[in-house]
Amino acid sequence: MRERLAYSPPLTYRHEGQSQRMSRRRQIYEGKAKILYEGPEPGTLIQYFKDDATAFNAEKRGTINGKGVLNNRISEHIFTALQTIGIPTHFIRRINMREQLIRQVEIIPIEVVIRNVAAGSISKRLGIEEGTQLPRTIIEYYYKDDALGDPMVADEHIACFGWASQDEMNDIADMAIRVNDFMCGMFAAIGIRLVDFKLEFGRLWENDYARVILADEISPDGCRLWDMKTNEKLDKDRFRQSLGGEAEAYQEVARRLGLLPEEGEETPVLDLESHRKKRGK
Ligand code: C5P
Repeated sequence: MRERLAYSPPLTYRHEGQSQRMSRRRQIYEGKAKILYEGPEPGTLIQYFKDDATAFNAEKRGTINGKGVLNNRISEHIFTALQTIGIPTHFIRRINMREQLIRQVEIIPIEVVIRNVAAGSISKRLGIEEGTQLPRTIIEYYYKDDALGDPMVADEHIACFGWASQDEMNDIADMAIRVNDFMCGMFAAIGIRLVDFKLEFGRLWENDYARVILADEISPDGCRLWDMKTNEKLDKDRFRQSLGGEAEAYQEVARRLGLLPEEGEETPVLDLESHRKKRGK
């Protein structure tokens, strides 16, 4: 074990092929694409976005250079926009390139998937051709459990095992539909079709009362985004299906959302680490 020093400067350590600044704050949780640290105030956390990418329940692993920086910006943009239409979220503010301050919530162990167009697991499971417009939006629920491979569950299972109450599920379904309507319009305006996406929700406790708010992130990691004209995939399916051009696809989404300079203008350095690598330093 490392000796405790009276004063230790921030350390740099290697993390799955990527070096990061490690501060002395307490790590609460490390997921596949994010790390949560204790926040500056009680009831807050810092959400750090990594470049690590995983697929098929972490059977496939890799990194997408600059992904964390882009997802941090994209998620900030979408959560801020959702707050303006009255969707309560955990987002407080972005702190820097890879971190945002969020409210600490008790995560409800359900992944909520909203589908507008058939793709991915629904196409495979039900034999519906990828790209088929669904006659109505479908909401599906998956139980968050890596060991079980996040199995799909019905409302009945959620109620039976007490993962969420009926009132909470009503709030979740209402919010999911509103988020979908808003995001379909937001992406359509920039020539992108919102095929499907995943949301997570958490309980915010105020005394003895818990309110359900939107948590986690919304980024090309958890959405299927297709160019409306070419059907080109601008999301994590590029990584899942080894199509290449992952970083460029995420950048394209950020650029169209107005978060990066237009084509032709100079691109800012997104990530000093990958910038240095590119320049061979
Ligand atoms: O794989 P499937 O078709 O069920 O995924 C539906 C949507 O949910 C996709 O946009 C995918 O990126 C997202 N998803 C996710 N995390 C998971 C499972 C799915 O973000 N664990």
